[in-house]
Amino acid sequence: MKLHWHILVAIGFGIKRNWHIFLALIGGIIVGLLYPFQAGEATTFHEILLFIGQGFIKIIQMIVVPLVVSAIIVGIASLGDSRQVGKIGMKMVAYYALITLIAVVIGTTLALLFKPGKDFNPKIDARQSQMVQDKVEALKENTSKINVPALILSMLPGNAADPDAKAENQPDTIIFQALISLIIFGCAFASIGEMNRPVVSFFESVFAATMKVTDWIMIVATPGIFSLTAYYVAKAGFDTIKDLWLYASVILLGLFIQLLITYPVLLKLFSKIRVTSLYQAITEAMMVAFGTASSSATLPITIACCERRAGISSKICSFVLPLGATMNMDGTALFQSIAVIFIAQAYDIHLTPLMIVLIGLLAIVASSTSAGIPSAGLITLALIVQGSLKLSVEEIGQAYVLIFAIDRVLDMFRTLINVTSDAVVASLVAAGEGELDYEFLKNQEVWKEVV
Ligand code: ASP
Repeated sequence: MKLHWHILVAIGFGIKRNWHIFLALIGGIIVGLLYPFQAGEATTFHEILLFIGQGFIKIIQMIVVPLVVSAIIVGIASLGDSRQVGKIGMKMVAYYALITLIAVVIGTTLALLFKPGKDFNPKIDARQSQMVQDKVEALKENTSKINVPALILSMLPGNAADPDAKAENQPDTIIFQALISLIIFGCAFASIGEMNRPVVSFFESVFAATMKVTDWIMIVATPGIFSLTAYYVAKAGFDTIKDLWLYASVILLGLFIQLLITYPVLLKLFSKIRVTSLYQAITEAMMVAFGTASSSATLPITIACCERRAGISSKICSFVLPLGATMNMDGTALFQSIAVIFIAQAYDIHLTPLMIVLIGLLAIVASSTSAGIPSAGLITLALIVQGSLKLSVEEIGQAYVLIFAIDRVLDMFRTLINVTSDAVVASLVAAGEGELDYEFLKNQEVWKEVV
């Protein structure tokens, strides 16, 4: 318990360094609760909030593509040879998979224990509920079939200039395709030795410039984060939050377990990193993640915090963090496993142990194919419902609408967790490779500004 207080105090100190962002968050929550609005009835005040918030997200997103491209090329090229890339890549994937697996186990256990969907069963139309139950019962015999070869094919890059291929691709698969191309080209640049200098120097300049733009953007972070928080809390409204308090509390409890137990235990087991120092180093990234609900938009700040404060070498940051911002979504996986069980409980569907395992596995896959943008996890949730319960979004419409109504606020929390775990994994990989400067992490005097 003592450690948890230390962690909260550390985050408190991190907040103090940039208290105006924290005030923007709290102010946004208060204003949002005081001035709620019903869907389709936003006032001019709400529209202004949305305008400022979206403007902030747009300028931040402007730098994500150049940042990811330059970071991965420079990161991989500076790792030297492909064997080194492979070794670090394997470690990264193993940590990301482990952290997501733990999240899913926590989410599933809490959902089964607290049964957040039970209360909603009377609110669901009885006929609809019966139809859904009959359908699930009839399909229980069939084991789920996910078309694995088609999934793998959709992730392979192919010819980027082919207009037909472009038309059939989904945003999530495009991101995967782009990452795979970048990794392959990064390895190629690494293996051609000195000849890569012109290209690598070019991308080093691009990377440095995007980090400079990040510093400028952070000047307007306070109004941006205030507006986003106020607008989305106002949109959710106190009544929805109140109605769904058990569902929301179970998700928040799970996310806090990740933050206060899972990460500290992993850091203790696999490194000598003090969790309080790490959290203090990345508090700005946590706050921006909360405000924007986007891991990708937070990426520049996550990189800045990890490099300038956490003492993680820039090659590890440039490789592990951009991939984490798109692939590592443990907070999302935790939310998805709870949400699917919530739906099953709301419709009084009996879940067999096999179905529960399937929900967990699908949550791991679906979360890692979610883009690092707001509500991405809500979209891929439909895949899990389809894969495990064989139900479409229309069939479970009543429960989906409830989940949708409160999603943005929960998205803020799960994005905070997604971003924190990216930094935790980057620091674990760096510690294992001798790429983490412990003295630097411990000594706040030498930390550099992020905002
Ligand atoms: N908003 C989340 C992120 O960017 C993804 C999600 O769960 O919707 O990390």
